[in-house]
Amino acid sequence: MSRTADVVIVGGGVVGASAAYHLASAGAGRVVVLEREDRLGAGSTGACAGGFRTQFSSEVNIRLSQASVPMITRFTEEHGLPLDVAQHGYLFLVRNEGLWGEFVRANELQRSLGVEAQLLSADEAAKLAPGIAVDGIVGASYGPGDGIADPSGLTLGYATLARRLGAEIELGVETRRAVVDGGHVRGVETRDETIDAPVVVNAAGPWAGELATTAGVDVPLEPIPRHVLVTGAFPGVPERRTLVIDAVSSFYFHREGTGVLMGMGSPNERPTFETRVDERFIAEELLPKAVEVFPPLEEAAVEHSWVGLYEMTPDRHPIIGEAPWVPGFYLANGFSGHGFQHAPVVGKVLAELIVQGRATTVDISGLGLERFRAGELVRERHVV
Ligand SMILES: Cc1cc2nc3c(=O)[nH]c(=O)nc-3n(C[C@H](O)[C@H](O)[C@H](O)COP(=O)(O)OP(=O)(O)OC[C@H]3O[C@@H](n4cnc5c(N)ncnc54)[C@H](O)[C@@H]3O)c2cc1C
Repeated sequence: MSRTADVVIVGGGVVGASAAYHLASAGAGRVVVLEREDRLGAGSTGACAGGFRTQFSSEVNIRLSQASVPMITRFTEEHGLPLDVAQHGYLFLVRNEGLWGEFVRANELQRSLGVEAQLLSADEAAKLAPGIAVDGIVGASYGPGDGIADPSGLTLGYATLARRLGAEIELGVETRRAVVDGGHVRGVETRDETIDAPVVVNAAGPWAGELATTAGVDVPLEPIPRHVLVTGAFPGVPERRTLVIDAVSSFYFHREGTGVLMGMGSPNERPTFETRVDERFIAEELLPKAVEVFPPLEEAAVEHSWVGLYEMTPDRHPIIGEAPWVPGFYLANGFSGHGFQHAPVVGKVLAELIVQGRATTVDISGLGLERFRAGELVRERHVV
């Protein structure tokens, strides 16, 4: 069987859903989204903590956030669909002199670009997040406009908007390969059919490298498992939903329901698609650090835990744009732990690229795959 589309998007996470809406709204023609699971947001998006911030160390990430965050905070106002958003700030606690220097430089860059981010003392930080341990804090960086929002709400919201504009979203359909002929992408092949299309968008999250390989494109992506825990109520639970991060360890928490949601990376992390919960890591590394950073957590009981995958690139910046050697094959991958918040604008710039030939909302010319060949990489330092 064979049919045609103007654009096929592989992956029904927040990036694929945003791309579908923005492409349909930009007049890209017949847009088809293929998601292999039986629901949207089943990949990294469903495991995500929902944070958004403009406190990054690189100019392009700051600019992506400046364009994307208002698309989250004004989503309901603009589109009339519900989205749970709390703009209670991100608070980075820095307990290392060298790292503090990096935060001071990043803050200068953020402010020069118009971001309202403040450097605070330990005591000022403790006023914003009562109960945190202040010992060893050299300084803190606070972005009052940062916050958290519901990843499923945003994904389903964009999917609804895309469907209203005629996009077709198909669940339980795995793309086996991107079809390339004469050096140009020609569509995709699923188990049951071929869909002919001059444009294919790879929005396959941590699995994007596998799809790209079928098109002969090598995407440097590593799937890195990250744990998330949610507690029940406990004495001293924060009232505000400020996202607090211990910058050295990457431990973070924010109020969720009656308890908190928290997570942390590991210095021993290795690339794998395995998403089994590691009870040893939780008991011996994550929870002791949690109590060290926020002592009231001593009294908290963990009610849920899960593991999701970060999709890491070598420079911790996303790869956005047409694959240089396969015209028509577009990449929106490698968000390195911050793809939820950038998904709105990424969908928009993809639509601009595909429909108008040029991204105008944000200059993404430095985010192409070719940068890894040129080897001039600038690393994003603020990865949570
Ligand atoms: C624990 C955790 C916490 C995070 N916290 C934050 C945060 O606070 N803020 C933030 O901005 N980001 C955060 N992130 C990162 C964010 O979740 C991701 O960057 C983002 O969700 C990526 O979206 P995506 O649509 O590209 O990928 P995904 O959500 O993974 O979607 C890709 C989809 O493609 C499908 N797929 C793959 N291959 C195929 C195929 N061959 N055929 C059909 N379908 C296919 C998958 O099933 C999946 O549903 C976090 C991630 C994790 C794991």
